[in-house]
Amino acid sequence: MPILKRRQLNEKIVESVQMCGWNVLFGSRLSDLPLDIRIHNDDESITLKIYSWNLSHGGATRNADEYRIQTKVDRFEQVAEVKTLVLGWWDDVGVFAGFDVRKHSGVLGYSSSIQINQNTLRRAVINGFSAHDKGNEEIAVAFTPDFLVDYIKNLESLHDLGEAARDLIAFENVIERAVEEDFVINDADIEEISEPRQSVVKTVTQKVRQTGFKRRVLTAYSSQCAFCGIQLKLVDAAHIVPVAHEESTDHTSNGLALCPLHHRAFDHKLITINEEYETLINLDRVNYLRAIGHDNGMDEFAGRLRPMIYLPPDHRDRPNVRYVSQANEWRGWREYKVTKLR
Ligand SMILES: [Zn+2]
Repeated sequence: MPILKRRQLNEKIVESVQMCGWNVLFGSRLSDLPLDIRIHNDDESITLKIYSWNLSHGGATRNADEYRIQTKVDRFEQVAEVKTLVLGWWDDVGVFAGFDVRKHSGVLGYSSSIQINQNTLRRAVINGFSAHDKGNEEIAVAFTPDFLVDYIKNLESLHDLGEAARDLIAFENVIERAVEEDFVINDADIEEISEPRQSVVKTVTQKVRQTGFKRRVLTAYSSQCAFCGIQLKLVDAAHIVPVAHEESTDHTSNGLALCPLHHRAFDHKLITINEEYETLINLDRVNYLRAIGHDNGMDEFAGRLRPMIYLPPDHRDRPNVRYVSQANEWRGWREYKVTKLR
């Protein structure tokens, strides 16, 4: 079982924040415990104090199903306006455990341990998210790195799921089903859940859907942009038929892996694909950009595009031509003069 050093654990946290599309500012060094960071995107920022340790098996004398962290601090510091996280990391399978700091706010004995059961960790690997009632109203949450920011944003309400056992069961049931490609959440799925916790269940379910789509699309395209082949962990999963359209789906065949430049160019209708998977450039848009003197880089831009997009090896993952033609129609491509690349 690989055990990460302090710095590697903190790097894992930073990398996970970035994977969620957020950025990190450091208030401490990467090798510090706790790690003080501020995470932010364009709209929000959250200041954090993070305690993390490797999750390890409890050993022969313990329950076979039990994993735990051993806390090597006297107490968890809690500061106003700062969220304190207590995390475990199981490197073998790439999953975090999150514990409720409010339940461990006193003086900790030397090397005291906090547990989570293995089944919860396993379910998180499969579904992205899972919660476990530890009794005493403490809920431990397990999640994959792409859920770290959602865990942080919903920290208190997720751990509060333990206030009613039926909320937790309903939550787990929705999450189990949310990974199915055709799942759509409706009110019946969450009516069992008490009012204050319905929104966190909705948020997490939505995130499970998005993350499932992103993972499937990036895997199908080997994390490279369909238009230019760039990887560099900069690639997004874009919908061909946009989410805003009622006929949009989260099927892999409604997705394209795109780098930020080509994602923006696709959304701005500068480029698209046709039903033969050829790259099309919008000549009307090019002419407009020339006319207003905003066409710097156009030749380099066109030079980076493949004449045909990169296609996933599995036929079922390739863009469904029906989605391609409908999306082009709804996006207004019938009105534009286009050119292909040679
Ligand atoms: Zn690209």
